Order: sequence, then structure tokens, then C-alpha cells
Amino acid sequence: MSFDELNLIDPILRALHEEGYTSPTPIQQQAIPHVLEGHDLLGVAQTGTGKTAAFTVPILQVLSQRSKLQHQPAGRIRCLVLTPTRELAIQIGESFTAYGRHLGLRHTVIFGGVGQLPQTNALKRGVDVLIATPGRLLDLMNQGFVDLRHLEVFVLDEADRMLDMGFIHDIKRILPKLPVKRQTLFFSATMPAQIQQLADSILRPNPVKVA
Ligand code: AMP
Repeated sequence: MSFDELNLIDPILRALHEEGYTSPTPIQQQAIPHVLEGHDLLGVAQTGTGKTAAFTVPILQVLSQRSKLQHQPAGRIRCLVLTPTRELAIQIGESFTAYGRHLGLRHTVIFGGVGQLPQTNALKRGVDVLIATPGRLLDLMNQGFVDLRHLEVFVLDEADRMLDMGFIHDIKRILPKLPVKRQTLFFSATMPAQIQQLADSILRPNPVKVA
């Protein structure tokens, strides 16, 4: 199978070609069409499977095809990606940069352990996509730098690792701030009962499952 069969728009196909990708990985083949159609998704997948592109590529397409504001108002986010570590956050940011290089969307990455000023400045300039670790996101939300009321897509990445790292309380504080009407993509390498419960509480009933 080739990327041409996935109904992707030309600017994204060009970017994938420039990355040297020739064909979608199995999780990309399975996930991309469903995400493009607006479905919720439960993905059981580890790093190394092409999981990141499986969500960044269709999210870029969905956001660019929907009415896009020339300038996002300060702090107003269209897509939030929550991920447990700074390394993953940076890597996901690089994917949005690479696959979205021919689109006009903006994103920024926020994580703890560094000064918040460059992060709040980026938020003030306006971004479509925010990639964040939970603690710093809560900090900046509480200071009024992040407006999630118009969120369209929410991604919870590496849910099992989030729980292992003790982020469940932060996540539970963030979730009530998200609009109910949204698309949610939930990824975890493993699916123990506790993770399944979290998935059930975040996703709409009967999400598409890919593994
Ligand atoms: P991930 O599982 O998202 O961390 O991706 C693992 C690695 O595979 C990353 O370095 C990606 O750049 C690369 N990758 C993702 N999708 C493809 C693809 N369709 N063809 C070739 N490489 C890919």
C-alpha cells in the first residue's frame, strides 16, 4: 500500500515523500482513514511502529481542512497532545514540523524543568497545536495562558507510561477543562484494566481500535 491510497492532501504527501517514506506502516494504514473521518481511536502501539505519524499526519490534515483562522487568538488551542516526557514531546513536535511543513499551521511544545517565558511567548503568538507534558500544562493553564474551550482534537499518548510516572492526578485535573464535543485519540503500549478504564472515561463509546 502507498500513502497515495489514504486520501491525504498533496502538501502532506509531498512532505512524506521528502521524509523518504514510501509506504505507511500497519498502524498508519489502519489509523489514518479513521482519524480523517473524525472517529475516536484507541491505539495499542509502542514507539517504533510509526505511531506518531499515525496521529500527527491525519490531525494536520483535519485541522488544515477545517476553517482555519489566519491568527489563532492568544492561548486558544485546536489540538492538544499530552505525552509523559520532554523527549517524547520534542519528538512529536518535530513530527508536526516535518509533516506539516507545507501547511500553515503552528504548534509549540511545552514541558517542565525549563523557564516558562519562551513557552508563554509562543502561546501568546497563537498556536493551533500544543504538545505538552501534564505538569507544565496545568501550570500554564492555571496562569491563564492556555484556552482549551475551542479544542477540536485531544491526543493522550503513552497512557500506560503516564500512569507509571504518576501523572494520573494531573490528567484528571486537565480532563474537565476539555470540551465534551471533541475527537479523542488514546495510545498505550499496554492495556491493563486501569488503562482500559481511563480510556473508557475519555473516549466516546465504541472507538475504533487499532493494534
Ligand atoms: P514512532 O513509532 O512514531 O516513534 O516512529 C518511529 C520511526 O519511524 C520514526 O523515526 C519515524 O520517522 C519513522 N517512520 C514513521 N513512519 C514511517 C514510514 N511510513 N516509513 C518510514 N519511516 C517511518
